Amino acid sequence: MLLFSFIMSDTLRSYFTDINEKEVLYQANKIAGSIQKAEYLTDPGKKESFEYEMDEKSNEENFRIIVVNNAGVVVVDSSKTALGKIYIVPEILTALDGKDQANLRWDEHAIYASAYIENDVSEKIGAVLIVSSFDDVYELINVINHRWLILTVGISIIVAFIVFFVSQLILAPLKNILETIKKISEGQLHQRIEINGKNEYTEIADAINNMTEQLEQVESSRQEFVSNVSHELKTPLSSIKVLSESILLQEEMPTEMYREFLQDINSEIDRMTNIVNDLLALVKLDHREDALNIGETNVNRMIQDVMKRLYPLAEKKNIELLYESNRDMTVEADEMKLSLAVSNLIENGIKYTPNDGMVKVTIDGDHQNVFITVQDTGMGINEEEQSKVFKRFYRVDKTRDRETGGTGLGLAITHSTVMLHNGSIKIVSSEGNGATFIVRLPIKHSEG
Ligand code: ADP
Repeated sequence: MLLFSFIMSDTLRSYFTDINEKEVLYQANKIAGSIQKAEYLTDPGKKESFEYEMDEKSNEENFRIIVVNNAGVVVVDSSKTALGKIYIVPEILTALDGKDQANLRWDEHAIYASAYIENDVSEKIGAVLIVSSFDDVYELINVINHRWLILTVGISIIVAFIVFFVSQLILAPLKNILETIKKISEGQLHQRIEINGKNEYTEIADAINNMTEQLEQVESSRQEFVSNVSHELKTPLSSIKVLSESILLQEEMPTEMYREFLQDINSEIDRMTNIVNDLLALVKLDHREDALNIGETNVNRMIQDVMKRLYPLAEKKNIELLYESNRDMTVEADEMKLSLAVSNLIENGIKYTPNDGMVKVTIDGDHQNVFITVQDTGMGINEEEQSKVFKRFYRVDKTRDRETGGTGLGLAITHSTVMLHNGSIKIVSSEGNGATFIVRLPIKHSEG
């Protein structure tokens, strides 16, 4: 608006002054012509009527008329102030030199226009100077400028208010989101952003709410995990405490009993060691970046090695441990972790199958995947429990399963390992009809 006002007043000014300059110059010429024709300057007898006519003209047109002779002495001045004096301005000098001229003088708010006067034989005998004030135009432009300035300030204030309120309106939901995020980052994970309607903000809010929900789940499973770990370690610790106190309190205990108690203590310590080792294995699997040490792994050889180690365990329960494979399969995998994962499955098969049963391991595959199947003739797992057995510390039958010496972490380790290899694990089972675990592993390993 300020730029527009500047351009407008400048255009107005040059328009008015352009017109006025031409007009005043024309008037000066006309007067010079009439002086020449009436021989006012050469004939002293016409002095009075000359002065009268010039005054008339000056009143009529509302400008000052000055006539000088060729010596620059004022012979007529409609404002009378310079009469008889030498009056030299550049315009008069130019006119006496034989050229007409019009000049604008901003400081005086006036246009100076001059024209020369000749006698019969074309000698320069004087000059006419017209001083036409454009105070009115100047005033008008000033008034316009002033009003425009008031308008500009007024509109600016209104626009500033509108912008402020609209931005408040736009930023209000963002502020709300920001406040909730702050609370969430302070640990108040139950905080949710209120969602009304549907726009970009509510989409962000929805995404943040989902994220917070997941955070809350992670936090609660972390707490559950910690409480599970403490609980699992507490049981053997209290057993050890009770056993050692019995030894300490009983005086002159038979050596046999001593040995028995110490054996119990020893096996509780083994149990704790197993739990800690399994936890460490799981923690390593959770550190995804450096979790795997990938290499070409012959699955058949790896599984035969695992089974060789487990034969004594199966033999104790007179369980038949069978191996079946029609093809030699190689995968890109972390052999150490994978053999632990498979070992957990076969060991479970042996643990949860009653005496004289059977555990069978089958290797099969196509050009993309290897399938490792561990099938037993044990108690099986009912459908409801099947999705839960991969959770850390989950046991179907708490007391019985603890007696088998498990930590409840074996299947969690197997599951994490298979997932890290981008594979999958499935249970086919029903209660009392044995359990079958099917592991699928892609032959080529790909990150993520
Ligand atoms: P654990 O160390 O107790 O064996 P796992 O994580 O290996 O822990 O297994 C979790 C639970 O799943 C076991 O406690 C058991 O109840 C059940 N389970 C695992 N494998 C079998 C199986 N082959 N047959 C029946 N139940 C099984």
